[in-house]
Amino acid sequence: MADTNTTAGMLAGVPTGLLIAGTWRGSSDGGTFTKLNPSTEEPIAEVSAASNDDVDAAVRAARTQFENGDWAKLPNVARGALLNRLADLMERDADRLVTIQSLEGGQPLTEPKMLDIPMAIETFRHYAGWADKITGSTIPTPGYFGHPTLSYTRREPIGVVAAILPWNAPAMIFSWKVAPALACGNTVVVKPAEDAMLNVNYLGHLIEEAGFPPGVVNIVNGFGEKTGAALARHPLVDKISFTGSPEVGREVAQVAAQSFKRLTLELGGKSPQIIFADANLQAAVQGSVMGLFANQGQICAAGTRILVQRPVYEQVVAALSGAAQSVRLGDPLAPETQMGALINKRQLDRVLGYIATGKEEGARLAAGGDRGAGRGYFVQPTVFADASNDMQIAREEIFGPVGTVIPFDDAEEALRLANDSFYGLAATVWTQDVTKAHTLAAGVRAGSVWINGWGAIDPRLPWGGFKGSGLGRELGYAGIDANTEEKVVTVVL
Ligand code: ADP
Repeated sequence: MADTNTTAGMLAGVPTGLLIAGTWRGSSDGGTFTKLNPSTEEPIAEVSAASNDDVDAAVRAARTQFENGDWAKLPNVARGALLNRLADLMERDADRLVTIQSLEGGQPLTEPKMLDIPMAIETFRHYAGWADKITGSTIPTPGYFGHPTLSYTRREPIGVVAAILPWNAPAMIFSWKVAPALACGNTVVVKPAEDAMLNVNYLGHLIEEAGFPPGVVNIVNGFGEKTGAALARHPLVDKISFTGSPEVGREVAQVAAQSFKRLTLELGGKSPQIIFADANLQAAVQGSVMGLFANQGQICAAGTRILVQRPVYEQVVAALSGAAQSVRLGDPLAPETQMGALINKRQLDRVLGYIATGKEEGARLAAGGDRGAGRGYFVQPTVFADASNDMQIAREEIFGPVGTVIPFDDAEEALRLANDSFYGLAATVWTQDVTKAHTLAAGVRAGSVWINGWGAIDPRLPWGGFKGSGLGRELGYAGIDANTEEKVVTVVL
């Protein structure tokens, strides 16, 4: 067990280099960058920054394994066994993964402990089970020029998958991209976010220990505009799986279009929580607080537009504000902490900027609105009431602990407001009326709709967005579909 009293102890054995063809090494040009602790603003690691040559070496290592390496020859059952072995090692080291994530991400320990790390492990197990169940189908046709035919399909791996990760849930989103890619027989080059690479690197270390052939999973740390861009445009990359901002997603999509690389994009949201007057209000408030403030609001599915029916509007605003004021903000590694620090200074400035905008736009600040005391990128849990859906704070993804509460009169207006958004990742409906619940669920233009709960994400359920929230789906069978090419074979009999 690592010494969790010091940063050095928590990070002992965590690689800071690049994983290329099974070896951890420094950048070919000696480049490095500094990773800060978000809750103290102190440096905690100096990490290698991959050069274009390093990215090229990583992609070529992945390509070699894909085309004729040990990986290409491995039976599907053995791929599944390796994925399960990795899940076993993650379970063995779960406490370490939780601590590293809390330290590097500024998240209270309870969140990676309850959610991210168990979900990452479960995702590897889920796809371990898929590895030997990826099948095609036989499809009857009327025949070919009078001859009967036999047509069947095969699902084949796509090739080298570039997995470009965000910083908000690094281990979990690593698992969402890497597990299905490997289950299908692809190889992977991972580009962790420049603000959250330590847990991903530790997972790289476990991948080596699990015994994956060298080069099946490569990790290139570095900045997005250099390392990420070099990876996205590399001609030997066949697919890009990206999670991040719409701005970068658009750039990645343009690069992918040049050579028609396969593409999955998950780009965030501005998800509504629709609270009807007949809802269990205690549950609705509790769920909305979680949807607003979990991971300091840095969750793509965060339920940041709280739409409340007028008869219970003031009651819900008061309850949300009271809950926000009682959140214990502080050291992410302290067990009593309920909310930690934002990831970096840029994010802190961005969130404070939106809070200033909300005030200027005339929304009523009902709770929070300031930085936390002392060093670190802390922001108080913040609630704006009496907002309208055309305010910037209701339209743009803030990616911080800021909720915007908007009143509505009836189901029709709620649906119109819910859908009046660039995004369409998720939505929650709080009501006791099944007809209303399912009517809203059908009408909302979002990839996931939760009724009387928030954030019920599961490795077995497809995940992704409508509209500006992205392209394609991850998880469940959708993850298999997104990581294979479908080939038809027809025999003229
Ligand atoms: P955020 O703003 O949430 O950090 P970004 O969209 O900026 O999200 O970044 C998501 C991921 O995309 C990170 O790993 C980042 O390094 C990477 N990235 C940023 N710019 C580019 C780019 N031009 N090409 C490829 N990847 C990039």
